[in-house]
Amino acid sequence: MRDNSITSNTPMQAYLSENVFMGMVLSTVEVYKKECFGLLLGYRTAEKYVVEHAIPYQSVKRGHNFAELRSDKWQLMQEVLKHFPRLDVLGDYHSHTMYGDVRAEVSLSRDDIEYMDPNDLQVVIAINENRRSRGWTVNTDRTMSGSLDRYHFKIAAYYDANRGGAHGIYRKVANGRPRARVAPRLQLATIQCPFTLAPAAKAL
Ligand SMILES: [Zn+2]
Repeated sequence: MRDNSITSNTPMQAYLSENVFMGMVLSTVEVYKKECFGLLLGYRTAEKYVVEHAIPYQSVKRGHNFAELRSDKWQLMQEVLKHFPRLDVLGDYHSHTMYGDVRAEVSLSRDDIEYMDPNDLQVVIAINENRRSRGWTVNTDRTMSGSLDRYHFKIAAYYDANRGGAHGIYRKVANGRPRARVAPRLQLATIQCPFTLAPAAKAL
């Protein structure tokens, strides 16, 4: 049976522009081995999150496995963002970093899931010090990975499949940050990024 709506089995796509990729990677490296945390702006269609800006939050309190933005700071940004009707707040990004010998993974922590707004796209960048250089690819699990300098990155984009797809149009900025949520069905969006189309970066 076919209809015009997107079935929940069709994963959403997350298009990360070159600017977004650069913003996320550099802010991840800057505060390594602490976590970075930032805002994703863009727009969304029934099938796709088109991420146009990745803006690191500057005032976050950060540690090895957390980063927090004060709600009054978030409020200030919301007020300004209302003046950009073409841009929606799509969600956030944050990094997971190596902790001792434990390599960082892109899987969501309990806190990540608890504080994720049901309508958010949540991008996680796992950063690890690398043994060898790898080119950038989109993997079969829909994540994207590759290395730059001495770091290896893996990027995953999560969304709640109960809210994704055809439910579409939503402005988090206008509605504030709802706290309560029910039974998320988190899925990975298929990442698209022009960076993966470039020839693999060579180590030498
Ligand atoms: Zn996390």
